[in-house]
Amino acid sequence: MPELRKDPVVDRWVIIATERGQRPYDFNPEQVTAGTGFCPFCEGNENKTPPEVWAIRSSGSAPNSPGWQIRVIPNKFPALAIEGELNRQGLGMFDMMNGVGAHEIIVESPDHGWKVSDASESKLFDIFRSYRERITDLQKDTRFRYCMVFRNYGAAAGASLAHPHSQLIALAITPKRVKEELHSAKEWYHEKERCIFCDVIRQELVMGDRVVLDNEHFVVLSPFAARFPFELAIYPKRHCHDFTLMGDDERRSLAGTLRETLKRIAVTLQDPPYNYILHTCPNTTHGTGPTRVNYWLTLEHDFHWHLEIVPRLTRIAGFEWGTGFYINPVAPENSTRFLREAELE
Ligand SMILES: [Zn+2]
Ligand SMILES: [Zn+2]
Ligand SMILES: [Zn+2]
Repeated sequence: MPELRKDPVVDRWVIIATERGQRPYDFNPEQVTAGTGFCPFCEGNENKTPPEVWAIRSSGSAPNSPGWQIRVIPNKFPALAIEGELNRQGLGMFDMMNGVGAHEIIVESPDHGWKVSDASESKLFDIFRSYRERITDLQKDTRFRYCMVFRNYGAAAGASLAHPHSQLIALAITPKRVKEELHSAKEWYHEKERCIFCDVIRQELVMGDRVVLDNEHFVVLSPFAARFPFELAIYPKRHCHDFTLMGDDERRSLAGTLRETLKRIAVTLQDPPYNYILHTCPNTTHGTGPTRVNYWLTLEHDFHWHLEIVPRLTRIAGFEWGTGFYINPVAPENSTRFLREAELE
């Protein structure tokens, strides 16, 4: 069973997942490749993965057989274990708990060579539907406080298998990065009774020089204080704290918006590795005690879901590790200009 341990100085949890069985030589960077030959996610290899928990299939095809378009399976090497109680405990001054959580893989296509940047809108629409279905389902589990969906593309971005996929991790805690956003958003709202993200969107649309894309439902921004070159964020224009509450027309629009954004990144930066991360609201359906309920009271008004995209172009080095500061060699205004000028065929 993996463990969650909390650093008491900076209030940060880590997952100690020894089940992955890494030995020192497994960390040799030379050996990190995108896999050799056999792929368990390809159509026809369904019996090489744990049984699927959700799928979009052609009518008549049986679960765990060919005939699917999107397939969600538990990770065979999960960072967290789905079975078990939370079992929070103190170990002297330290806090820890069982590494209970869900770790699922959303296999986005039966085709090994499929790319998001070439996908049809209906395909991406279905991928977002799979995110929603799985988040909604896992939110029913009262052990989980946060569902994080992310996509690693390319070995340098952490993808250990080249087959197109996203991942979902349901956690018993709200992650630190999300908490920081939640706290700031709450404070801003408390003071001004406005959503900080809506304010950012309004401000950026007025200034214009960091707006990569702007359509009826979404805006794509290179953040004013971007940490990384070509870092982007996609915001829905309609204020909403919860990704799962997106309407069909918005989901269709997000499909087109994400595809165009990734295409612009691929054309401008020669198909770089990237991560995208969905920041939606925490699970609020099962508060434990009055403080928790009060804490989330304004969540609907103060938080605003979004998708963050980080192309992996620079390495995090000593200064960044030591300070938490990032040195970004490309001004967001310049990233924006390059991405806008990308010639899409
Ligand atoms: Zn494959
Ligand atoms: Zn908002
Ligand atoms: Zn965020």
